[in-house]
Amino acid sequence: MSQQMPTHSKTSHFRQLSLRGKFKLIMWLSIWAVILAAAIGLWKYSQFSQSKKLIEQTSETILAEQEHIFSDTLLVGEIQSDLILFMQTAHPETMEKIRKRSGELLDHLPDPAKPHLNKFLVKADTLAIRMASFRLNNYKTLRAGDTLLEALEQSSLCRKNEDCQQGVRRASQTFRQIRPLYMHGIINGPPQELKETKQKISLVLHAVKKDIQVLAPKLDPEQSAYLLNFIDLFYELDEAIATVGAIRVRVVSSEEEVMNLFNSLKMQLAEVSITNNKQVMTLADQGLKLATNYVFLMFAALALVTFFCIMVFTFMANSILSPLDSLVDLLKKFTTLLRGIRSLSNSEKLQYQKIHEQITHRHDEIGDVGRATQALLNHIHGISEFRQKIENDNTCHDVYVRLGKIFTQELGLPSFIIYEIADNEPMTPIYSYPPELKEEMPVFSITDTCRAKRTTATVHSFDDPDICPICPVKDVLDYFCIPLLAGGQTIGIIQFFLPISTTVAKKNSYQKLLNEAQNYIEEALPIIQAKRYARKLEAIATQDQLTGLYNRHYLDMSLPQLEAASKRRNSTLGVLICDMDHFKAINDTYGHAAGDLVLVELADIFRASVRSSDLIIRYGGEEFLILLQDIREDEEVVVAEKIRQGVANHTFELPEGAQTQTISIGVAEFAGGRSERIAKVLRYADIALYKAKEEGRNCVVKFTPENGDGANA
Ligand code: GH3
Ligand code: MG
Ligand code: MG
Repeated sequence: MSQQMPTHSKTSHFRQLSLRGKFKLIMWLSIWAVILAAAIGLWKYSQFSQSKKLIEQTSETILAEQEHIFSDTLLVGEIQSDLILFMQTAHPETMEKIRKRSGELLDHLPDPAKPHLNKFLVKADTLAIRMASFRLNNYKTLRAGDTLLEALEQSSLCRKNEDCQQGVRRASQTFRQIRPLYMHGIINGPPQELKETKQKISLVLHAVKKDIQVLAPKLDPEQSAYLLNFIDLFYELDEAIATVGAIRVRVVSSEEEVMNLFNSLKMQLAEVSITNNKQVMTLADQGLKLATNYVFLMFAALALVTFFCIMVFTFMANSILSPLDSLVDLLKKFTTLLRGIRSLSNSEKLQYQKIHEQITHRHDEIGDVGRATQALLNHIHGISEFRQKIENDNTCHDVYVRLGKIFTQELGLPSFIIYEIADNEPMTPIYSYPPELKEEMPVFSITDTCRAKRTTATVHSFDDPDICPICPVKDVLDYFCIPLLAGGQTIGIIQFFLPISTTVAKKNSYQKLLNEAQNYIEEALPIIQAKRYARKLEAIATQDQLTGLYNRHYLDMSLPQLEAASKRRNSTLGVLICDMDHFKAINDTYGHAAGDLVLVELADIFRASVRSSDLIIRYGGEEFLILLQDIREDEEVVVAEKIRQGVANHTFELPEGAQTQTISIGVAEFAGGRSERIAKVLRYADIALYKAKEEGRNCVVKFTPENGDGANA
């Protein structure tokens, strides 16, 4: 395990390199490998070419020498033929030819062979001399033979003498015996048999000498001398034969010597030729080895280049192409998500997760891009989900709650407060974390100069704690105020409170979180604005502008719910229709504006007289409908009376002077337990009001079937 560690760490070192780093490393390795291969290749090539040159030169020299050796061999062959001819004929011209050819041969014979030729020539001269002597002595022998024949031809001297004739016959017989022995034994016989032949001849001669010595005394002196002369002649012949034999021995030894020397010359030539061949073979072998080396080296270089090519391809495939594919996939998904993040299916999410895992574990640039894309995607996805949620939220408050969760739970910001700013209204804390913070913060008046509101720019205390003089916590906490801007106007402020940052790193980390929070705020802003507009529009549509009470439109909308709720709870709804008495006179006397003031004050009296769960509706010009929820039986009359008295006792402060006014109230009762419709009960109240007017105004009349004659009208 421990032995495997270095390899693993090397691989992981490589993995941790950036793409540029990996590329550089492989490039340098490849360059060095190519340089090394080229250097070794050049070195080997120069060796190879030198050797090739040497082989070529040597081969040329050797070839030329071999050509000479070939012609020398031919010449040697010719000399050999001549030599054989000379040995047979002993012709001096043949020897002359041998000398001439040998002279030619000497000119271009390889040096080691020259001494052999010189020695051969010396011995050939000796042979020639011996051959000449042999010829001479042979001639002498033949002459002695001829003398003997001539003596034999004088056999007429032995006329009629049998002994003499027998002696001549014996001499003739001996001569005939010697002749073939000489010709075949001494002249041409094998040298080792020479001695034997010579002994045979001596024996024959001795025998004839004895025979003649026996016969000679029996003859006359002339005949005896004639026969005894044969002994001398035979001795001469014997001597001549002996000389020829001796010379023959020397000639044969000379011949052997000459032939041996000639053979050694041939051997030397063959040896030179063989040496040359061997040299060529050795050189060729060397060349072949170098060529093999060179080819091997070429293969090694090719293998090295192939290895690097494979390395580069693998690197490109593993480190660039496949991660690029993944990155492209990721970016495709990214665009898909950007186009319609809401419609991402589960399988797509899984696939996306897989690509993400492959790419974000890398340590190079692709990994960086992958992580950045991933972070961006998560951010967009988070924001998109957040936006989707707040779009479906009902009220602005819901949006604030959701923002609050992001700030505190996701981003870990410790505390914040959201202020709302409406036209000509104070800056009011609406929502906060922790919740009690809202209660502790002051409501800033319109004239209070909130810096973020005034400058419509983010204000924070990181660089200057006193930048906003009205911030109540500036001495103990850092603050970061983000204005909510809509149409160039500040519609709210979100203020974050943070522990005072003591280090730059801490400050930067808060800054990062606050930037993230700002992204969410920006995303929420149009929705907050839309919801606030909707809230405002709803208020406009359901409120009476003059008195701030609900209008008739609101009543029409709420009636079905009121009726249903009352029936569900089986509770009673008190219905009061209030109408100013002689209100026209106010208008006529003090003007319409004074009449409006009276109506506003009247609305205040109504508000003060009923519970917050009750509904007060401006029913007509100076006619108001009050719906008292969950009222006990006949209690509505008590409330109506309280209202009537409240109005009657009230002093309306008009520019023209204080005024008192009265109202008449018609009362009816809607009981949830009955099957009546609420609209009908409203008509009952109207009838009751009519009765109250009839009865002299400033009074309360409750509808009863007895007084409601016209109820069905
Ligand atoms: P009565 O006791 O019989 O109810 O007498 P009245 O004068 O109150 O009755 P009438 O219905 O004849 O007059 C109502 C007047 O209220 C008429 C109208 O000019 C006035 N009025 C209605 N709406 C407004 C309003 O918004 N402001 C002002 N100043 N006057 C209004
Ligand atoms: Mg009136
Ligand atoms: Mg009226």
